[in-house]
Amino acid sequence: MADSDYDYDLVVIGSGPAGQRAAIQGAKLRKRVLMAEGKGIVGGVCINSGTIPSKTMREAALYLSGYREHGIYGESYSVKEKITLQDLLFRVEPVVRHEIDVVRHQLHRNGIELVNAPATFLDPHTLRLDFVDGRTARKVTAARIVVAVGTEAAVDPRLPYDDNCVFSSDGILDLKDLPQTLCVVGAGVIGLEYASIFAALGVRVTLIDMRPRLLPFVDAEVIEALAYHLREMRVTLRLGEEVTGFEILDDGPRKRVQVKLASGKQIVTEKALRSIGRTGATTRLNLPAAGLTPDDRGRIRVNSAYQTEVPHIYAAGDVIGFPSLASTSMEQGRLATLHAFGIEAVHSPEWFPYGIYTIPEISFAGRNEEELTEQGVPYETGKAQYREIARGQIIGDSIGMLKLIFHRETRELLGVHIIGEGATELVHIGQAVLSLGGKIDYFVDTVFNYPTLAECYKSAAFDGINRLNC
Ligand SMILES: Cc1cc2nc3c(=O)[nH]c(=O)nc-3n(C[C@H](O)[C@H](O)[C@H](O)COP(=O)(O)OP(=O)(O)OC[C@H]3O[C@@H](n4cnc5c(N)ncnc54)[C@H](O)[C@@H]3O)c2cc1C
Repeated sequence: MADSDYDYDLVVIGSGPAGQRAAIQGAKLRKRVLMAEGKGIVGGVCINSGTIPSKTMREAALYLSGYREHGIYGESYSVKEKITLQDLLFRVEPVVRHEIDVVRHQLHRNGIELVNAPATFLDPHTLRLDFVDGRTARKVTAARIVVAVGTEAAVDPRLPYDDNCVFSSDGILDLKDLPQTLCVVGAGVIGLEYASIFAALGVRVTLIDMRPRLLPFVDAEVIEALAYHLREMRVTLRLGEEVTGFEILDDGPRKRVQVKLASGKQIVTEKALRSIGRTGATTRLNLPAAGLTPDDRGRIRVNSAYQTEVPHIYAAGDVIGFPSLASTSMEQGRLATLHAFGIEAVHSPEWFPYGIYTIPEISFAGRNEEELTEQGVPYETGKAQYREIARGQIIGDSIGMLKLIFHRETRELLGVHIIGEGATELVHIGQAVLSLGGKIDYFVDTVFNYPTLAECYKSAAFDGINRLNC
């Protein structure tokens, strides 16, 4: 069949970062594009319950708790004495509203038809749209389809939700008050981010994970520093421990949760945050009708062009799994559409940056020491502590550290790993050098603004080169 025999050239399912970029790329190619969003609101997990709310909440927590100034004015300094959840939401709500507006406007400006209706496959080219406002369902056909339905919080029947005491990251904005104690089950990126945000607000946090080490994909030295600072914020780490169940205790003035561990330990806490991973939001799609089968975590398999086993159906974003970032999801959506219309794209860079908004924040690009050791690559490292740099002193960040890893013989940069204020912005300097195949010498030979945290690059480079000559 020719494209003109279908209702649309492209139907995109989902309006998160992957869906947005897939649809906009289609519109830029002057294709007839329909976007189906299953909720009454656009933006996906990214804008409505994940990235944007959590990052805004983090910023509000850092400001109100005076955390950034503790190095200068002492631990007792804060902007506000008793911080409430309303104080945090005061900042979150307008940011979320604004971002939704931006997305709606972009879709409209690009002539993309947006419908608020969950999509279900009837056959590989046909979808049923069940409008959220109750209008009669509509059938549409599409020459090409990009599935960008994202994920939802994973469910474990042993750890049931309770409106009052147990919540997931999707429900965090519904919390009524800040608890005094919080148990975070699952120390992945999301669990760690929320654990450190609540700890900065003075909540006594216990963080539990089955794995013996935090975030195994992050450089070990950076993780050691993170664990140290979490403990400094009075976070109790219970690693290598499995949670076997929750019991709601309703015997006092306030309900509490008893968290039971396989080791026999029990933790009684006011609230529990369940952060045990996320599964692809594919249940509603009826993938078998399209000739597709999701894996046991609801994810869709794709090739390097984001094409599924059914050639005209693509998938992008969190629904295809790692790295599950808003940044990479956007790029995947764009590349999927380009490929779908036979347009050659310059592929994503080999090294994308990873940002982890814990307190302190972490970011890296390239390989870490453990990976290089495993691969038998001869490398050297150079490090700079923020406190050695004038800007570090000015902002009072005594925690920060930047580490460069480079090849001992070719001097080529292999990785950059940062923990501390501004890490997620600073990393892009290293990422650029890495992507262009640059050497450690670049940082020595270039000039950075003074006083900036970027100077850590120069200082780390000198340190690394000195080590070579020792
Ligand atoms: C708490 C938290 C913090 C995060 N922080 C960061 C961060 O700091 N940086 C970062 O890069 N990433 C972060 N992420 C990850 C980021 O949010 C995701 O990578 C990103 O949202 C994935 O985009 P997506 O388009 O694949 O899916 P989503 O944003 O999940 O959007 C999917 C959309 O599809 C819709 N949908 C689902 N099923 C259907 C259907 N059948 N029909 C129609 N529509 C459907 C959903 O309603 C949703 O709107 C965070 C995630 C969470 C949960």
